[in-house]
Amino acid sequence: MKNQVWDVLSQSKDEMTAWMKAQGLPGYRGTQLFEALWRHRVKDYEEITSWPKALRENMTNQFPLYRLQAETVQRGHDGTLKILGRLYDGQHIETVVLPHDYGYSVCVSSQVGCNMGCKFCASGLLKRTRNLSAGEILDQVRLANDLIADQGAVISRVDLMGIGEPLDNYENVMQFIQIAHDPLGFNLSYRHFTISTSGLVPDIYRLAQEGMPITLAVSLHAPTDDLRRQLMPINKAYPVHQLIEACKDYFHKTGRRVSFEYALLAGINDSNQHAEQLANLLKGFSCHVNLIPWNPVPEHPFQPSSKKRVEEFQRIVQDRGISCTIRKEMGQEIEAACGQLRRREEELLSP
Ligand code: SF4
Repeated sequence: MKNQVWDVLSQSKDEMTAWMKAQGLPGYRGTQLFEALWRHRVKDYEEITSWPKALRENMTNQFPLYRLQAETVQRGHDGTLKILGRLYDGQHIETVVLPHDYGYSVCVSSQVGCNMGCKFCASGLLKRTRNLSAGEILDQVRLANDLIADQGAVISRVDLMGIGEPLDNYENVMQFIQIAHDPLGFNLSYRHFTISTSGLVPDIYRLAQEGMPITLAVSLHAPTDDLRRQLMPINKAYPVHQLIEACKDYFHKTGRRVSFEYALLAGINDSNQHAEQLANLLKGFSCHVNLIPWNPVPEHPFQPSSKKRVEEFQRIVQDRGISCTIRKEMGQEIEAACGQLRRREEELLSP
Protein backbone atom coordinates (compact mmCIF):
# COMPACT_ATOMS: atom_id res chain seq x y z
CA MET A 1 0.00 0.00 0.00
CA LYS A 2 1.32 3.41 -0.88
CA ASN A 3 1.20 6.04 1.79
CA GLN A 4 -1.21 8.73 0.60
CA VAL A 5 -0.35 11.10 3.45
CA TRP A 6 3.37 11.49 3.01
CA ASP A 7 5.06 10.21 -0.13
CA VAL A 8 8.41 9.39 1.47
CA LEU A 9 10.25 8.58 -1.76
CA SER A 10 9.42 11.96 -3.32
CA GLN A 11 10.85 14.14 -0.54
CA SER A 12 14.03 16.16 -0.85
CA LYS A 13 16.64 15.98 1.92
CA ASP A 14 15.51 19.34 3.32
CA GLU A 15 11.87 18.25 3.29
CA MET A 16 12.73 15.07 5.18
CA THR A 17 14.74 17.04 7.72
CA ALA A 18 11.90 19.52 8.25
CA TRP A 19 9.39 16.70 8.55
CA MET A 20 11.44 14.92 11.22
CA LYS A 21 11.72 18.15 13.20
CA ALA A 22 7.96 18.65 12.94
CA GLN A 23 7.55 15.19 14.50
CA GLY A 24 9.75 16.29 17.44
CA LEU A 25 12.70 14.22 16.20
CA PRO A 26 16.24 15.43 15.46
CA GLY A 27 16.55 16.86 11.95
CA TYR A 28 19.51 14.61 11.16
CA ARG A 29 17.13 11.63 11.11
CA GLY A 30 15.81 13.11 7.87
CA THR A 31 19.30 13.20 6.36
CA GLN A 32 19.85 9.61 7.46
CA LEU A 33 16.58 8.55 5.82
CA PHE A 34 17.43 10.34 2.56
CA GLU A 35 20.88 8.78 2.38
CA ALA A 36 19.55 5.34 3.25
CA LEU A 37 16.90 5.46 0.52
CA TRP A 38 19.08 6.64 -2.35
CA ARG A 39 22.75 6.14 -1.59
CA HIS A 40 22.35 2.85 0.30
CA ARG A 41 19.19 1.80 -1.57
CA VAL A 42 17.53 0.15 1.45
CA LYS A 43 14.39 -1.89 0.77
CA ASP A 44 12.77 -1.14 4.13
CA TYR A 45 13.34 0.88 7.28
CA GLU A 46 14.65 -2.15 9.17
CA GLU A 47 17.89 -1.79 7.20
CA ILE A 48 18.53 1.68 8.69
CA THR A 49 20.53 0.36 11.60
CA SER A 50 21.60 3.84 12.77
CA TRP A 51 17.96 4.40 13.80
CA PRO A 52 16.45 3.31 17.11
CA LYS A 53 14.18 0.27 16.82
CA ALA A 54 11.10 2.29 17.82
CA LEU A 55 11.59 4.77 14.94
CA ARG A 56 12.03 1.95 12.43
CA GLU A 57 8.82 0.33 13.62
CA ASN A 58 6.86 3.59 13.65
CA MET A 59 7.87 4.42 10.10
CA THR A 60 7.09 0.90 8.92
CA ASN A 61 3.61 1.11 10.41
CA GLN A 62 2.79 4.65 9.40
CA PHE A 63 4.60 5.09 6.08
CA PRO A 64 5.23 1.70 4.53
CA LEU A 65 7.73 1.82 1.68
CA TYR A 66 6.80 0.51 -1.72
CA ARG A 67 9.86 0.12 -3.90
CA LEU A 68 9.58 -0.44 -7.65
CA GLN A 69 9.51 -4.16 -8.43
CA ALA A 70 11.22 -5.60 -11.49
CA GLU A 71 8.54 -7.83 -12.97
CA THR A 72 10.82 -8.90 -15.81
CA VAL A 73 14.38 -8.04 -16.84
CA GLN A 74 15.38 -8.79 -20.42
CA ARG A 75 19.11 -8.90 -21.16
CA GLY A 76 20.44 -8.07 -24.63
CA HIS A 77 23.65 -9.44 -26.12
CA ASP A 78 25.12 -5.94 -26.04
CA GLY A 79 24.55 -5.67 -22.27
CA THR A 80 21.33 -3.66 -22.51
CA LEU A 81 18.82 -4.38 -19.74
CA LYS A 82 15.16 -3.76 -20.29
CA ILE A 83 13.10 -3.70 -17.12
CA LEU A 84 9.35 -3.96 -16.88
CA GLY A 85 8.64 -2.32 -13.52
CA ARG A 86 5.51 -2.76 -11.43
CA LEU A 87 4.25 0.26 -9.49
CA TYR A 88 2.35 0.19 -6.19
CA ASP A 89 -1.02 0.29 -7.99
CA GLY A 90 -0.19 -2.54 -10.40
CA GLN A 91 0.60 -0.20 -13.33
CA HIS A 92 3.64 -0.98 -15.46
CA ILE A 93 6.49 1.18 -16.72
CA GLU A 94 9.64 0.51 -18.70
CA THR A 95 13.20 1.38 -17.81
CA VAL A 96 16.23 0.62 -19.97
CA VAL A 97 19.83 0.38 -18.78
CA LEU A 98 22.45 0.95 -21.46
CA PRO A 99 26.18 0.16 -21.27
CA HIS A 100 28.64 2.66 -22.80
CA ASP A 101 32.41 3.16 -22.93
CA TYR A 102 32.13 5.56 -19.99
CA GLY A 103 29.82 3.40 -17.85
CA TYR A 104 26.04 3.02 -17.67
CA SER A 105 23.12 5.27 -18.48
CA VAL A 106 19.48 4.67 -17.68
CA CYS A 107 16.47 5.69 -19.73
CA VAL A 108 13.54 6.30 -17.38
CA SER A 109 9.79 6.73 -17.88
CA SER A 110 8.03 9.82 -16.56
CA GLN A 111 4.37 8.85 -17.02
CA VAL A 112 2.22 5.73 -17.23
CA GLY A 113 1.34 5.90 -20.94
CA CYS A 114 1.49 9.10 -22.98
CA ASN A 115 -1.05 11.50 -24.48
CA MET A 116 1.15 13.02 -27.15
CA GLY A 117 0.04 10.50 -29.78
CA CYS A 118 3.19 10.46 -31.92
CA LYS A 119 2.27 8.25 -34.85
CA PHE A 120 5.42 6.13 -34.80
CA CYS A 121 5.55 5.41 -31.07
CA ALA A 122 4.45 2.32 -29.16
CA SER A 123 3.98 4.30 -25.92
CA GLY A 124 1.47 6.62 -27.55
CA LEU A 125 -0.78 3.63 -28.27
CA LEU A 126 -1.55 3.47 -24.54
CA LYS A 127 -2.91 6.78 -23.32
CA ARG A 128 -1.58 8.38 -20.17
CA THR A 129 -3.07 6.81 -17.06
CA ARG A 130 -1.21 9.02 -14.62
CA ASN A 131 1.98 10.91 -13.94
CA LEU A 132 4.82 9.25 -12.06
CA SER A 133 5.80 10.82 -8.76
CA ALA A 134 9.36 12.05 -8.27
CA GLY A 135 9.94 8.99 -6.08
CA GLU A 136 8.72 6.62 -8.79
CA ILE A 137 11.15 8.13 -11.30
CA LEU A 138 13.97 8.01 -8.74
CA ASP A 139 13.22 4.40 -7.95
CA GLN A 140 13.91 3.45 -11.58
CA VAL A 141 17.47 4.77 -11.14
CA ARG A 142 17.72 2.93 -7.81
CA LEU A 143 16.56 -0.32 -9.42
CA ALA A 144 19.00 0.14 -12.31
CA ASN A 145 21.82 0.63 -9.78
CA ASP A 146 20.74 -2.55 -7.98
CA LEU A 147 20.94 -4.51 -11.23
CA ILE A 148 24.48 -3.40 -12.12
CA ALA A 149 25.87 -3.39 -8.56
CA ASP A 150 27.39 -6.85 -9.01
CA GLN A 151 29.76 -5.27 -11.58
CA GLY A 152 30.77 -2.56 -9.12
CA ALA A 153 29.07 -0.05 -11.47
CA VAL A 154 26.69 2.85 -10.89
CA ILE A 155 24.43 4.81 -13.21
CA SER A 156 26.25 7.95 -14.34
CA ARG A 157 23.74 9.43 -16.82
CA VAL A 158 19.96 9.66 -16.85
CA ASP A 159 17.84 10.14 -19.97
CA LEU A 160 14.18 11.08 -19.51
CA MET A 161 13.37 9.42 -22.81
CA GLY A 162 11.21 6.47 -21.77
CA ILE A 163 7.42 6.36 -21.70
CA GLY A 164 5.76 9.73 -21.29
CA GLU A 165 6.35 13.40 -22.05
CA PRO A 166 8.57 14.64 -19.17
CA LEU A 167 7.56 18.28 -19.57
CA ASP A 168 3.91 17.24 -19.19
CA ASN A 169 4.86 16.14 -15.65
CA TYR A 170 6.99 19.19 -14.99
CA GLU A 171 7.01 19.59 -11.18
CA ASN A 172 7.64 15.93 -10.44
CA VAL A 173 10.43 15.77 -13.01
CA MET A 174 12.11 18.84 -11.51
CA GLN A 175 11.86 17.34 -8.01
CA PHE A 176 13.30 14.09 -9.36
CA ILE A 177 16.31 15.89 -10.84
CA GLN A 178 16.96 17.87 -7.65
CA ILE A 179 16.93 14.72 -5.51
CA ALA A 180 19.04 12.69 -7.96
CA HIS A 181 21.52 15.60 -8.13
CA ASP A 182 21.89 15.76 -4.33
CA PRO A 183 25.33 14.50 -3.15
CA LEU A 184 23.54 12.15 -0.72
CA GLY A 185 21.13 11.09 -3.49
CA PHE A 186 22.71 9.80 -6.70
CA ASN A 187 25.16 12.71 -6.84
CA LEU A 188 24.58 13.22 -10.58
CA SER A 189 25.66 16.48 -12.18
CA TYR A 190 22.92 18.40 -14.01
CA ARG A 191 24.89 17.95 -17.20
CA HIS A 192 24.34 14.22 -16.94
CA PHE A 193 20.57 14.51 -17.37
CA THR A 194 18.82 14.66 -20.72
CA ILE A 195 15.18 15.66 -21.01
CA SER A 196 13.51 14.57 -24.21
CA THR A 197 10.43 16.48 -25.29
CA SER A 198 7.99 16.24 -28.17
CA GLY A 199 8.04 20.06 -28.20
CA LEU A 200 6.01 21.68 -25.40
CA VAL A 201 7.20 25.18 -26.21
CA PRO A 202 6.08 27.06 -23.04
CA ASP A 203 7.79 24.44 -20.86
CA ILE A 204 11.03 24.70 -22.83
CA TYR A 205 11.09 28.44 -21.99
CA ARG A 206 10.31 27.56 -18.36
CA LEU A 207 13.06 24.94 -18.19
CA ALA A 208 15.57 27.46 -19.53
CA GLN A 209 14.89 29.62 -16.44
CA GLU A 210 15.61 26.85 -13.91
CA GLY A 211 19.36 27.47 -13.81
CA MET A 212 20.08 23.78 -14.39
CA PRO A 213 22.34 23.03 -17.38
CA ILE A 214 20.40 19.94 -18.44
CA THR A 215 20.69 18.63 -22.00
CA LEU A 216 17.52 19.17 -24.00
CA ALA A 217 16.69 16.61 -26.69
CA VAL A 218 13.82 17.60 -28.97
CA SER A 219 11.93 14.96 -30.93
CA LEU A 220 11.75 16.73 -34.29
CA HIS A 221 11.33 13.92 -36.84
CA ALA A 222 10.23 16.25 -39.65
CA PRO A 223 11.57 19.55 -41.02
CA THR A 224 8.23 21.09 -42.10
CA ASP A 225 4.91 21.78 -40.39
CA ASP A 226 2.94 19.78 -42.97
CA LEU A 227 4.86 16.60 -42.36
CA ARG A 228 5.42 17.09 -38.62
CA ARG A 229 1.71 17.65 -38.04
CA GLN A 230 1.03 14.25 -39.57
CA LEU A 231 3.61 12.50 -37.41
CA MET A 232 3.28 14.48 -34.18
CA PRO A 233 -0.07 16.07 -33.25
CA ILE A 234 1.73 18.44 -30.82
CA ASN A 235 2.89 20.36 -33.90
CA LYS A 236 -0.66 21.72 -34.32
CA ALA A 237 -0.24 23.61 -31.05
CA TYR A 238 3.43 24.51 -31.45
CA PRO A 239 4.64 24.73 -35.04
CA VAL A 240 8.23 24.09 -36.06
CA HIS A 241 9.42 27.72 -36.15
CA GLN A 242 8.08 28.37 -32.61
CA LEU A 243 9.83 25.22 -31.43
CA ILE A 244 13.17 26.22 -32.94
CA GLU A 245 12.90 29.71 -31.39
CA ALA A 246 12.32 28.13 -27.96
CA CYS A 247 15.34 25.87 -28.48
CA LYS A 248 17.52 28.86 -29.39
CA ASP A 249 16.37 30.58 -26.20
CA TYR A 250 17.27 27.42 -24.25
CA PHE A 251 20.76 27.41 -25.74
CA HIS A 252 21.32 31.10 -25.01
CA LYS A 253 20.12 30.82 -21.41
CA THR A 254 21.83 27.54 -20.45
CA GLY A 255 24.80 27.33 -22.83
CA ARG A 256 23.77 23.73 -23.54
CA ARG A 257 23.69 22.62 -27.15
CA VAL A 258 20.23 21.31 -28.06
CA SER A 259 19.99 17.87 -29.63
CA PHE A 260 17.34 17.19 -32.29
CA GLU A 261 16.14 13.60 -32.53
CA TYR A 262 15.12 12.46 -36.00
CA ALA A 263 13.79 8.91 -36.50
CA LEU A 264 14.13 7.93 -40.14
CA LEU A 265 11.00 6.34 -41.62
CA ALA A 266 11.36 4.88 -45.11
CA GLY A 267 9.62 6.98 -47.76
CA ILE A 268 8.13 9.35 -45.17
CA ASN A 269 10.81 11.75 -43.88
CA ASP A 270 14.10 10.37 -45.22
CA SER A 271 14.55 11.89 -48.69
CA ASN A 272 17.42 14.13 -49.79
CA GLN A 273 14.95 17.00 -49.88
CA HIS A 274 13.99 16.39 -46.24
CA ALA A 275 17.67 16.38 -45.29
CA GLU A 276 18.18 19.71 -47.09
CA GLN A 277 15.09 21.19 -45.43
CA LEU A 278 16.34 20.04 -42.05
CA ALA A 279 19.77 21.59 -42.63
CA ASN A 280 18.17 24.87 -43.73
CA LEU A 281 15.91 24.90 -40.68
CA LEU A 282 18.86 24.54 -38.32
CA LYS A 283 21.32 26.70 -40.28
CA GLY A 284 23.39 28.96 -38.03
CA PHE A 285 22.17 27.29 -34.82
CA SER A 286 24.82 25.54 -32.74
CA CYS A 287 22.94 22.27 -32.24
CA HIS A 288 23.23 18.58 -32.91
CA VAL A 289 21.12 16.17 -34.96
CA ASN A 290 20.77 12.60 -33.77
CA LEU A 291 19.49 10.29 -36.51
CA ILE A 292 17.65 7.29 -35.10
CA PRO A 293 17.35 4.05 -37.04
CA TRP A 294 13.69 3.38 -36.29
CA ASN A 295 12.63 0.25 -34.39
CA PRO A 296 9.52 -1.12 -36.14
CA VAL A 297 6.32 -1.24 -34.07
CA PRO A 298 3.97 -3.97 -35.33
CA GLU A 299 0.87 -1.75 -34.96
CA HIS A 300 2.33 1.03 -37.14
CA PRO A 301 2.74 0.91 -40.92
CA PHE A 302 6.19 2.55 -41.03
CA GLN A 303 9.34 0.82 -42.17
CA PRO A 304 12.89 1.73 -41.14
CA SER A 305 15.06 3.48 -43.71
CA SER A 306 17.90 1.46 -45.23
CA LYS A 307 21.41 1.86 -43.84
CA LYS A 308 22.47 3.47 -47.13
CA ARG A 309 19.61 5.99 -46.92
CA VAL A 310 20.45 6.87 -43.32
CA GLU A 311 24.10 7.46 -44.25
CA GLU A 312 23.18 9.61 -47.26
CA PHE A 313 20.80 11.66 -45.10
CA GLN A 314 23.59 12.20 -42.58
CA ARG A 315 26.04 13.24 -45.30
CA ILE A 316 23.69 15.91 -46.67
CA VAL A 317 23.06 17.38 -43.21
CA GLN A 318 26.76 17.32 -42.27
CA ASP A 319 27.83 18.86 -45.61
CA ARG A 320 25.66 21.86 -44.74
CA GLY A 321 27.59 22.41 -41.54
CA ILE A 322 25.25 20.76 -39.02
CA SER A 323 26.70 18.31 -36.49
CA CYS A 324 24.92 15.01 -37.15
CA THR A 325 25.43 11.47 -35.88
CA ILE A 326 23.60 8.16 -36.23
CA ARG A 327 22.48 6.65 -32.96
CA LYS A 328 23.92 3.24 -32.26
CA GLU A 329 21.19 0.62 -32.29
CA MET A 330 21.03 -1.13 -28.94
CA GLY A 331 18.83 -3.78 -27.47
CA GLN A 332 16.84 -4.37 -30.66
CA GLU A 333 16.32 -8.03 -29.95
CA ILE A 334 14.68 -7.17 -26.63
CA GLU A 335 12.07 -4.76 -27.97
CA ALA A 336 13.94 -1.67 -26.82
CA ALA A 337 11.69 0.65 -28.81
CA CYS A 338 9.93 2.69 -26.17
CA GLY A 339 6.61 1.29 -25.01
CA GLN A 340 6.74 -2.09 -26.71
CA LEU A 341 7.32 -4.16 -23.61
CA ARG A 342 4.69 -2.39 -21.52
CA ARG A 343 2.17 -2.67 -24.34
CA ARG A 344 2.79 -6.40 -24.57
CA GLU A 345 2.24 -6.72 -20.82
CA GLU A 346 -0.98 -4.70 -20.87
CA GLU A 347 -2.30 -6.88 -23.69
CA LEU A 348 -1.51 -9.99 -21.74
CA LEU A 349 -3.21 -8.59 -18.66
CA SER A 350 -6.31 -7.23 -20.40
CA PRO A 351 -9.36 -9.54 -20.35
S1 SF4 B 1 7.46 9.60 -28.70
FE1 SF4 B 1 7.48 10.26 -26.55
S2 SF4 B 1 6.04 12.02 -26.54
FE2 SF4 B 1 5.61 10.88 -28.43
S3 SF4 B 1 3.94 9.44 -27.88
FE3 SF4 B 1 5.93 8.37 -27.59
S4 SF4 B 1 6.42 8.64 -25.41
FE4 SF4 B 1 4.87 10.19 -25.96
